[in-house]
Amino acid sequence: MTHEFDADIAVVGGGLAGASLALAVAEVGLSVALIEARPFAVVDDPAARERTTALSYGTRVLFERLGLWPAIANSAEPIETLHVSQKDSFGRVRVDAAEYDVPALGYVAANAAMIEALQDRLEAEPRVSVVAPATFEALTEIDGGVALTLGGGGDTGAVRQTLTARLVVGADGANSSVRYALGIGAKHDEYDQRALITTLEPEKPHGGTAFERFTPDGPIAVLPRSAQSCALVWTLPPERARELAAADTATFEAELATQFGTRLGALKLTGRRGSFPLARTLCDSAVARRSVLIGNAGHALHPAAAQGFNLAVRDALTLAAHLTEQKHLAGADFDPGDPDWLAAWAEARRPDQHRIANFTDLVVRTFSNRLPGLGMARGMALFGLSIAPTIRHDIARRSMGLAVAPALDDLMQSETGHDR
Ligand SMILES: Cc1cc2nc3c(=O)[nH]c(=O)nc-3n(C[C@H](O)[C@H](O)[C@H](O)COP(=O)(O)OP(=O)(O)OC[C@H]3O[C@@H](n4cnc5c(N)ncnc54)[C@H](O)[C@@H]3O)c2cc1C
Repeated sequence: MTHEFDADIAVVGGGLAGASLALAVAEVGLSVALIEARPFAVVDDPAARERTTALSYGTRVLFERLGLWPAIANSAEPIETLHVSQKDSFGRVRVDAAEYDVPALGYVAANAAMIEALQDRLEAEPRVSVVAPATFEALTEIDGGVALTLGGGGDTGAVRQTLTARLVVGADGANSSVRYALGIGAKHDEYDQRALITTLEPEKPHGGTAFERFTPDGPIAVLPRSAQSCALVWTLPPERARELAAADTATFEAELATQFGTRLGALKLTGRRGSFPLARTLCDSAVARRSVLIGNAGHALHPAAAQGFNLAVRDALTLAAHLTEQKHLAGADFDPGDPDWLAAWAEARRPDQHRIANFTDLVVRTFSNRLPGLGMARGMALFGLSIAPTIRHDIARRSMGLAVAPALDDLMQSETGHDR
């Protein structure tokens, strides 16, 4: 650590991506300043409390490495089977964890539980200073590092301050101020859809099955949330999402039954409804002078393939691994903002990021348009997938986060003892 800087690494944004990264780099012995605009406390918005994330099996293994899994596992439900179907079509795909010799294809975890587990660990971690609420405003390059200008968060009246670090990580979401400050461009595509989320109580047991059902309006995901409840992520055109978010319970449940079908019997609405706009934002470059973008700041994806956070976790862990190796090799000359090392990390991550972004976009666009004749083609495609083991195998490996990060494959193999 260099003493003239406030921290080795400044992470802007304490969402799931930034908090995971802060912990991962602190674990490798670097000092971190984590800057978050909102008060660093338990999520108190009831609609936000409904949010869940489907974690790949690979993310679970990595959370275990950070010692976070025991706290998250209590509120995480395993996905033992993935069932993909299409409305008004016979085609379907079924993937079982048992076929892949893993206890689960993935897990559905409450976002609030993950944030709480991360915050508890961060507050107990001596190498991390949490600066919150404070808003990143500007960045200047200084000799051997960067100086960040921070304003007070929200209406706190906190004074503007400056913080110095040798590397800055932008983990401040899809509209990243760090990305703008660095002058990194991004390609932004609106899907003209919203995700309506809530919690349901199914009449029949879900049996650990995650259902993904494609409809002309967009995909419906019904995921196991607890023994007796399911999380709903329903993608809809914006107007329809607003109507259904405001509809009375009976109307909402009837429309859901029409679109989802009766596989789980009647689906009773038990949670609050929240809705989120959906878009894809892909940055032109994940690195710049003494800077890195991760999570939604680098690539914000449609949730249909449940990959955004899983990809961010792989970014975070590989960056921590890269810094560890560099620290080991460079010794006293170690500089976390070294441009060659950052470029090498970005280069190594690009194939995974591109594959996941393209795979997600393909899923959304293939299954969510209304072109005549496509219904049957999609059904056939699904049917084809269900009988084409190699392609299906690839889907399962992508869902588990095992197919796309060879270095992490090795890590997980050694940790789980599974030969995939
Ligand atoms: C409906 C929905 C369902 C999803 N489901 C899944 C899923 O099943 N699986 C999956 O892998 N992914 C899923 N995702 C994606 C996943 O939620 C995100 O990829 C993940 O939360 C990572 O977000 P983030 O931390 O990068 O950004 P954010 O969550 O946007 O966090 C950014 C943080 O930065 C802070 N911030 C912003 N600006 C500043 C500033 N100037 N200064 C300081 N702080 C700032 C914000 O307050 C916030 O805390 C889903 C997304 C949606 C919308």
